[in-house]
Amino acid sequence: AALTLQSAVQGAPDAVAVVVPGRSQTLTVTYRDLVSQVAAFQQKLAAVGIARGSPVSIATVNSYEFIVSFLAASWQRGIAAPLNPAYKQDEFEFYIDDVKTAIILVPRGAYQSGSPAVKAAQKFNAAIAECYWDAATGEVALDIKELGQLQGQPRQPLLKPAPEDTALILHTSGTTSRPKVVPLSHRNLTRTMRNIQQTYQLTAADRTMLVMPLFHVHGLVCGLLAPLLSGGSMVVPSKFSAKEFWQDFIAHKATWYTAVPTIHQILLKNPTPNPLPPIRFIRSCSSPLSPTVFHALEATYKAPVLEAYAMTEAAHQMTSNPLPPAKRKPGTVGLGQGVEVVILNDAGDAVAPGGEGEICIRGENVTSGYLNNAEANQGAFTRSGYFRTGDQGKLDEDGYVVITGRIKELINKGGEKISPIELDNVLTRHPAVSEAVSFAIPDEMYGQDIGIAVVLKSGQTLGQDALRAWVEGKLAKFKVPKKVYFTDVMPKTATGKIQRRIVAEAMQKQES
Ligand code: ATP
Ligand code: MG
Repeated sequence: AALTLQSAVQGAPDAVAVVVPGRSQTLTVTYRDLVSQVAAFQQKLAAVGIARGSPVSIATVNSYEFIVSFLAASWQRGIAAPLNPAYKQDEFEFYIDDVKTAIILVPRGAYQSGSPAVKAAQKFNAAIAECYWDAATGEVALDIKELGQLQGQPRQPLLKPAPEDTALILHTSGTTSRPKVVPLSHRNLTRTMRNIQQTYQLTAADRTMLVMPLFHVHGLVCGLLAPLLSGGSMVVPSKFSAKEFWQDFIAHKATWYTAVPTIHQILLKNPTPNPLPPIRFIRSCSSPLSPTVFHALEATYKAPVLEAYAMTEAAHQMTSNPLPPAKRKPGTVGLGQGVEVVILNDAGDAVAPGGEGEICIRGENVTSGYLNNAEANQGAFTRSGYFRTGDQGKLDEDGYVVITGRIKELINKGGEKISPIELDNVLTRHPAVSEAVSFAIPDEMYGQDIGIAVVLKSGQTLGQDALRAWVEGKLAKFKVPKKVYFTDVMPKTATGKIQRRIVAEAMQKQES
């Protein structure tokens, strides 16, 4: 149970694994070539001293080089730590410090231009390398710019991963405390890959249209790894584009795609391809899919829509609606797939059938625990070893999971989870701001967007735009608040605590 591509490459080495659509030229890679290019890249990592447990941060958009470097790092028993390439320097610094990055891979030209990732890496003495597909050599280049902490590191032997090796570390979004670091082993990942393969009966004939970012489990595990396990293939544009989605889907004969509800909604607002390509199924995950959008998708694309439920700690998927002829139920996230799902009360006891409680899960896919976070680990698992998801829910009469609310107060902007605490902290660093509270506001396009309530220091003035610019200078653009509510007093509970939901209600009432 390790992320090798053995079965696929032995079965059909000439089968296509990856298709990268390009404006001038499309890159098509077979399993034989993919495996030999991953092996070549593994050699390069070994040569600079990457070995068991070395964190390899990958800060590139979806690309062939991401796929090759991710697999190579894991083959060398290193730990891939993908980072959103859109992060600002402060964010890169936080993550690089937290995962103890040994080497960071950045796109071509990033070193010369002194990108935020490069500057942050320099601060922590991480090695910096540009990583890109070099058509001239037919290889993925590892162009070392600075050796940093790897200076003087001897060449390492080529290694082979074991199931318990950590293959990947990703952060949660950090709702109630700082983001937690989730290590996922080869065993965790391969279990989810198999669960996904079985749920959707993925075969070598399937081709995924991969538009979810590879720095989250959704894109990485469901879009990339599960299809690779099945010997199938994927179409990998650098990012989602509504204009090019169907063009690429049709030209490269994709058979299915997975996305967050926001992407489905954007597609529905754009022209429907005529004639429609055959679509085996459409998967929706990472935030709630409204039954309205579910029905619109099925009617427009004549394909079954399967909503799934996932989280980082579970190496992505926990439950999913099943393929026909089994019943799919809009408004539910379906059934446990290779994962045990129970509803427990605060005491950790099962609630009566149909009753609400915390959704808890158990399975080989679940992380063994957060890194360097005894406090979070203490509450994370029940006595009987169930992982507490932090989501409120119930089982319907057929055992389908219905999510009824979030125990936490994260802002879920189209599947991108934004920590209100992180945002509060940035806002209150502004010299004119006295108090700031961030919360979710309903949004037609993203499901949720960001609202903030702000109390200014006395005698200070500050406009909405200046405050937004402040955030934009410090955090990725998707974390910039949509609505700013200035208020004289921040609503608080009797004990003086801030409750985001109460602030949100008061601000929206004040406005209307
Ligand atoms: P943190 O752990 O820091 O609070 P997070 O749990 O939001 O962050 P992720 O692991 O990215 O970070 O997201 C998992 C969460 O996303 C789930 O716990 C659930 O709340 C939500 N989610 C995933 N899929 C669905 C879905 N289909 N419907 C509703 N919510 C979903
Ligand atoms: Mg969580």
